[in-house]
Amino acid sequence: MANSRYEYVKSFEAHDALLPSTWIVIRIDGCHFHRFSDVHEFEKPNDENALKLMNSCALAMFEQFPDIVFAYGVSDEYSFVLKKSSKFYERRSRKSCIDGEVWQFKSHSPLPETHGSVNLSRVMQDVENGHINNQYNTCFWMLVDSGKSKREAQDILKGTQTSEKNELLYEKFGINYNMIPAIFRKGSCIYREMVDEIVKYNEAGTPIRRPRKKVVLDHCDIIGPEFWNEHPTILLDK
Ligand code: ATP
Ligand code: MG
Ligand code: MG
Repeated sequence: MANSRYEYVKSFEAHDALLPSTWIVIRIDGCHFHRFSDVHEFEKPNDENALKLMNSCALAMFEQFPDIVFAYGVSDEYSFVLKKSSKFYERRSRKSCIDGEVWQFKSHSPLPETHGSVNLSRVMQDVENGHINNQYNTCFWMLVDSGKSKREAQDILKGTQTSEKNELLYEKFGINYNMIPAIFRKGSCIYREMVDEIVKYNEAGTPIRRPRKKVVLDHCDIIGPEFWNEHPTILLDK
């Protein structure tokens, strides 16, 4: 657009810089993915290949954008946390910052659209919702597979608590929800971790190590303090 007759469009851009020294979170959510998953005959409630494709796209983002320190993915969405000191696209909340990410995402998969940037507590809320939704969806699709209509399955699950859904899964279908693969129950998270890499051996055969940041993909509980206590450096600006 620069130096073209369309450059005037830039004068209409909002220069709304995000608060300095705060984490920027960009959440990308697939557009009309319910339909997309039907058309492409996704396995319900969790198509593992689709989740793996999402994860490989997100891993590619870590390669491309060093400012990303953490990412969380579930269903058709991925949230990316940029480090506090990030100057990415001058911290502008609209336009380049988000579009840049989305283009990259699009180039790896057919997942479109973004819903803007939100704060970290919102991401944690999303994580919790992701866990709750997955348990619901697991019950729902087991009921449908067992011959119930979608409406009947909805009615059976209406107003049920977590423990009741666990009981239903166990008693009706012999499924222990905790044994379902963690990628489905917990979603996926990606972060950078310091590792001591062996670079060579000296004459005495002793390994010479050098610290290096490695990108890690995991499927664990990030809501409680345990994960963050075990990985205290993820959100530090280092
Ligand atoms: P919107 O455009 O408003 O985001 P949507 O159709 O994408 O609408 P969402 O609320 O984002 O709706 O929900 C995502 C949908 O995609 C759900 O219906 C979910 O079942 C489906 N979906 C996403 N990922 C998977 C997956 N890995 N396996 C099976 N289904 C999936
Ligand atoms: Mg969606
Ligand atoms: Mg969604």
